[in-house]
Amino acid sequence: MRKLLSERTAWIDASGIRKVFALAAKLKDPVNFSIGQPDFDVPEEVRNAAIEAISTGYNHYSQTAGDEGLQKALVERLHRRYGWDKPNVLVTSGVSGGLLLTFLAVVDPGDEVIVPDPYFVIYKHLVNMLGGKCVFVDSYPDFKLPVEGIRKAVSPRTKLIILNSPGNPTGCVYSAEHLKAVAEIAKASDLLVMSDEIYDEFCYDQPCASIADYYDRTLLLKGFSKSSSMTGWRMGYAAGGDAVAGVLEQMTKIQQYTFVCAPTPFQRAAITALDCDMSAYVAAYRRKRDMIYDGLRDTFGLAKPGGAFYAFARVPDGAGTATQFVEKAIDNNVLIIPGEVFSERDTHFRISYATSDSQIEKGIEILRRLADG
Ligand code: PMP
Repeated sequence: MRKLLSERTAWIDASGIRKVFALAAKLKDPVNFSIGQPDFDVPEEVRNAAIEAISTGYNHYSQTAGDEGLQKALVERLHRRYGWDKPNVLVTSGVSGGLLLTFLAVVDPGDEVIVPDPYFVIYKHLVNMLGGKCVFVDSYPDFKLPVEGIRKAVSPRTKLIILNSPGNPTGCVYSAEHLKAVAEIAKASDLLVMSDEIYDEFCYDQPCASIADYYDRTLLLKGFSKSSSMTGWRMGYAAGGDAVAGVLEQMTKIQQYTFVCAPTPFQRAAITALDCDMSAYVAAYRRKRDMIYDGLRDTFGLAKPGGAFYAFARVPDGAGTATQFVEKAIDNNVLIIPGEVFSERDTHFRISYATSDSQIEKGIEILRRLADG
């Protein structure tokens, strides 16, 4: 028989997450700490802007690089925030779309991509799919930016360093000092940095530092999925100054032949989303972060998460691997994700606290009980 599937399908493995969802399907009304999206809806004025866009005819292709109105709003904002003279922007179908375009534009087979571990799961699989190689740099136990590890990981084959702050799955926020140090490393070897800042609105203890402030060959990826809770609308953007204009140009060319453009009505609604005050939502998530941290820090050796809506907890000694602990948690009606999905280790598990206070209280109580054996 003729072989239908490409080699690259075998380079991707979805088993970790699939296992959790298969187990979860059997549960009735679980404490769900597994979801990677906010538990509030898209703000009403943003929903209305999308309806208005559809009613007034924004239903066709936009320019490949994005709707003119949204481009203008983003350029103004980026100019103000980063001081770039003429920011280059490509509106993408979610940050996931931006990630695929970045890797297609940058990674050749055999190229190395440096990624702090734990990492957002898509990076590894997309880089593998393109024949690149992720070089993971361990950031346990506190998940701060592993500057010395990154320095050692640079080789003649290195193309790209991926940073994600605030981070999924750790909730860790990188310090300006560490970002400056990595900027120096990248500069010394002329590397591209891709900074995934999709959670930048959710930063609880200090303003979110960005490596784009210290290194001009930074490609910023930002989105609306988390900040405005529009995960189903598929809205994100890639941006940078002059030093990455060539990369963005190639990404735009590839978008022409793949996604074509991001969904037009939602691009229009994103203009409204940019001005929407989300501070009450962020304050609510800061409080949930505190509940999780206070409830689990001792039992699970929790590093205090500074952003996003995740905590990455260590399985207590004697309680087995993370996968075994997650199976036990699921047997007790709590849904969490084992660390091996996001890491080369299987010692931790991810908690998403984007859920109600009562669910958080219930989940903390069950997890603490399980840790006691
Ligand atoms: N980056 C990170 C770190 C994420 O956690 C996610 C979503 N889970 C994405 C990118 C992709 O988000 P989207 O495609 O919905 O914009």
